[in-house]
Amino acid sequence: MKSAIESIVNDVRSGKRKALNIVSEALKKAEESTAHNVFVSLTRERALTRAAEIDERVAKGEAVGALAGVPFAAKDNFLIFGSATTAASNILKHFEAPYQSTAIERLEAAGAICIGKANLDAFAHGSSTENSDFGPTKNPHDATRVPGGSSGGSAAAVALNIVPFAIGTDTGGSIRLPASYCGVVGLKPTYGLVSRYGVVAMASSTDVVGPLAHTAYDAGIVLDVIAGKDAFDSMMYLEREASYVPAVNSEPLKIGVVKEYMGEGLNDETKKRIEAQIEKLKAAGHSVEEVSLPNVDLALAIYYVVVPAEISSNLARYDGIKYGHSSPHATSLDEVYKKSRSEGFNAENKRRIMIGNYVLSSGYYDAYYRKAQTARTLLIRDFKKAFETYDLLIGPTGPGPAFKLGQNVADPLQMYLVDIMTVSISLAGLPAVSVPAGKVGDLPVGLQIIGERCADKQVLSLAHQLEELA
Ligand code: GLN
Repeated sequence: MKSAIESIVNDVRSGKRKALNIVSEALKKAEESTAHNVFVSLTRERALTRAAEIDERVAKGEAVGALAGVPFAAKDNFLIFGSATTAASNILKHFEAPYQSTAIERLEAAGAICIGKANLDAFAHGSSTENSDFGPTKNPHDATRVPGGSSGGSAAAVALNIVPFAIGTDTGGSIRLPASYCGVVGLKPTYGLVSRYGVVAMASSTDVVGPLAHTAYDAGIVLDVIAGKDAFDSMMYLEREASYVPAVNSEPLKIGVVKEYMGEGLNDETKKRIEAQIEKLKAAGHSVEEVSLPNVDLALAIYYVVVPAEISSNLARYDGIKYGHSSPHATSLDEVYKKSRSEGFNAENKRRIMIGNYVLSSGYYDAYYRKAQTARTLLIRDFKKAFETYDLLIGPTGPGPAFKLGQNVADPLQMYLVDIMTVSISLAGLPAVSVPAGKVGDLPVGLQIIGERCADKQVLSLAHQLEELA
């Protein structure tokens, strides 16, 4: 498969095409995408200035980086210069980044050019992008359906061919689920491999930064640029690999299919698409067997205790004084806190803050938070055990294709259920990629490939092999 990223970089380096034209074209497509509500804002001026700088350097014969002139979209929870960083929340509507996130700094240093801030569920709380305070993004394959979330705008920007890659965050599936619903590749790297410095925090024990692209190969090129230590993120103790660009896999692998993900709750047609991928892997010489993760059915319950707990702590900083919206209706300091938060946060944000404070409160801490963390250890052990036998695990990314806009809005539990196949991997800190596995009707579905900690390259390499087999 051709690399959309490499073809741009080659053209820019050789002078065949100008970065300025490539970026202008991407901005034009972004402007034309308003019906899908992909972007919260565009970073037009900064993008054009940076593109002209790259062209100038090429003209002077100076070296340009691995992503020279490549336009990209960034989820609007990355601190970036050029427009407000809103996290799609009214509370941060006018917040201007005082510095840039490490991931963006690294992408810029490699010559990539951010053209706009992609829509998301406010503070990344959600699976459909419907929780955005600026309206939902529409699925590029069917505008009556959700694009998945919370990185829905990022996935749609790639699927609509506005940009060859986008950057998102994944706390419990927010890169993988939208990738699956929009028919693109989305990688959640190993926890701690990519710096979160300058990214609006959701749940610090599972938040990761990762790429969305057309192919695993291109996702690998982007990961290669952003991965590796950063003194500003204290959870980054991992040594990175020399390269994350997928290698051609010739060794036969032992692959485990997660039994619990292939059973109840999985849509029949989606199951068939996953089984077709399994046949392809077998035909390529890999051994594929069923494997059970006995505690995986606890994952959703663990996730929706641990994550709201961390959210309630991370969102305490939005007090109407330090950041963002400050209520004009307050008459005392106490009211500044209360009214700013009550006016700025949406219903889903508040739901999570309340659950989080509840499970952390002194009377309930042991019953909920401590128990959830204990069960989390069981889950981590399940994965560890499976990786004693298998090189990689696979399963569907979600229980089915994209659902209708509005379908799950009134029922938070139903909404949380679509995360059932992604949250366990986040709780265990493992790398996983969602790759397109065909369509159910007009709607794409994704296959998830899961690796051991630090097996990001193996995960991408198998995804790459599957793409080559297609
Ligand atoms: N859908 C999950 C949630 O609502 C995951 C969100 C995310 O990964 N940011 O929490």
